[in-house]
Amino acid sequence: MPDCIFCKIVKGEIPSNKLYEDEQVLAFLDIGPLSEGHSLVIPKDHFERFDQCPPDTLAKVIAAANKLAKAVAAATECDGYNVLCNTGRAAGQAVDHVHFHIIPRNQGDGLFDGWPAG
Ligand code: 5GP
Repeated sequence: MPDCIFCKIVKGEIPSNKLYEDEQVLAFLDIGPLSEGHSLVIPKDHFERFDQCPPDTLAKVIAAANKLAKAVAAATECDGYNVLCNTGRAAGQAVDHVHFHIIPRNQGDGLFDGWPAG
């Protein structure tokens, strides 16, 4: 998708700090991190939304996110992390190329105050 910023990252037209790459998946640091180690995991193929991404592709992306989350948690020594996939503008999706956020969290960091409950 020519105008998609994440497709440009996949093609190397825009630089990124890559964390993981295989034939179908790319992971890189978020340019506007909510916390140290905030990472994004995407399919290399362009699908706008979570619900448009084929299950087999999604499985590969989630498997990579699973490995990466362990590495990010170890590297940042965070207390926990959120794995998020914003879908649609109303839910905060700004980049229309499906992606999963891995957001390291620390006790009392105040991120997402009030949500999730507790
Ligand atoms: P969304 O709001 O769509 O769930 O999240 C999009 C994320 O992509 C944001 O956290 C934003 O900081 C990140 N982002 C947007 N443009 C770029 C970019 O050019 N490079 C990188 N590494 N991250 C980006």
